[in-house]
Amino acid sequence: MRTEAFPPTEDRPRSVTILGVTGSIGASTVDLVLQAPACYRVEAVTAQSRVDALAEAALALRARLAVIGESGRLPDLRERLAGSGIEAAGGADALVEAAARPVDWTMAAIVGAAGLAPTMAAIGNGRMVALANKECLVCAGPLLMRAVEASGTALLPVDSEHNAIFQCLAAARLDEVDRLILTASGGPFRAATLDAMRQATPAEAVRHPNWRMGAKISVDSATLMNKGLELIEAHHLFAMPEPLIEVLVHPQSVVHSLVAFKDGSLLAQLGPSDMRVPIAHALGWPGRLRTDHPKLDLAAIARLDFAPPDTGRFPALALARAALRQGGAAPTMLNAANEVAVDAFLAGEIGFLDIAAVVGRVLDGEPPCRIDTLDAVLEVDARARAAARRHLDHRPLVGTQR
Ligand code: NAD
Ligand code: MG
Repeated sequence: MRTEAFPPTEDRPRSVTILGVTGSIGASTVDLVLQAPACYRVEAVTAQSRVDALAEAALALRARLAVIGESGRLPDLRERLAGSGIEAAGGADALVEAAARPVDWTMAAIVGAAGLAPTMAAIGNGRMVALANKECLVCAGPLLMRAVEASGTALLPVDSEHNAIFQCLAAARLDEVDRLILTASGGPFRAATLDAMRQATPAEAVRHPNWRMGAKISVDSATLMNKGLELIEAHHLFAMPEPLIEVLVHPQSVVHSLVAFKDGSLLAQLGPSDMRVPIAHALGWPGRLRTDHPKLDLAAIARLDFAPPDTGRFPALALARAALRQGGAAPTMLNAANEVAVDAFLAGEIGFLDIAAVVGRVLDGEPPCRIDTLDAVLEVDARARAAARRHLDHRPLVGTQR
């Protein structure tokens, strides 16, 4: 960071913007801010379509600006905020403008590659960006990390695994690290048969055993594509080569990830499966907040299990590894195809096992090229989405359509 960072206090309130305030991460961030409202001044909050929830958050946080992505809903937003003094705006450009407003700290919690342009705008501020929106790093990792470097932004990982590694690395040098170990809960189908997975409904796929999350990341957790995206995320955040990032299934989601050092020591971060813990770490950074959510009771949990992932039933992990090894546009294509396939699965158009099949076909279908600019990323993203939609129409894939 170019300027020194201070933890938020009543004497020195932190100015914050929350991108994606109506989502699961957004709501947890609001909860934390409202635990000590005098320590924050909220500049902007954004959402895509849920006007009521956006207005409610803006009013509760006394934000200066509320932005709705779907511009057709702006009149509704204006009506809901009438008399509050809160500015209202709508549309994709307004989201980026809101993100570019100078603040100390931004929560980047839009879902999908749609968050890339606003997150890049927030990074342009050169302050602190708490990154939940992992798809940004997957689809534009080198570009985003160069922007972080150039602006002097403190990029604070919010994804629980990456936040765990960030904490474990606090007192370490990267050349002392042997490898990173990402833990994975295994999702709702950890012990399911392939046949049950073929028949899985959207309702079953989003029913995560440990975490309450948005629909897209819940499906990603069920396919293990989430862990694949996180592998790519970890590669960029911690400059770690792909072969040195392991995945370990840990069904209790208590150990959020580990760092293995060259001398054989392992450091881990533990906590309840509550995203308010990593969000609080990023919100208080470089200090720590006192929070009121339930703390971990290890005696009650009693045992922790670990196992290697089953790459046969969960091919998404290998697809992500291959895309990362290939580099260039491959991770962008992987992410875009996955977003289209997950939407199609949630809409009941394809089966659960078809998600990875669509992604695999898109990656096979086109030789990836280099991508160095935001426009190039967006172009590859659009091409991969179109290719994925063509594969959706080309049935049967591998699963059984319902
Ligand atoms: P969500 O679906 O609950 O919320 C998404 C938010 O993004 C909403 O506020 C929505 O209005 C906004 N949004 C959606 N589409 C948009 C668009 N096209 N343009 C602008 N805004 C848009 O998602 P979530 O579970 O909160 O996840 C948000 C991000 O955080 C994802 O990238 C996810 O992978 C990551 N993440 C989430 C969790 C979790 O526990 N929920 C954990 C780790 C990482
Ligand atoms: Mg995670």
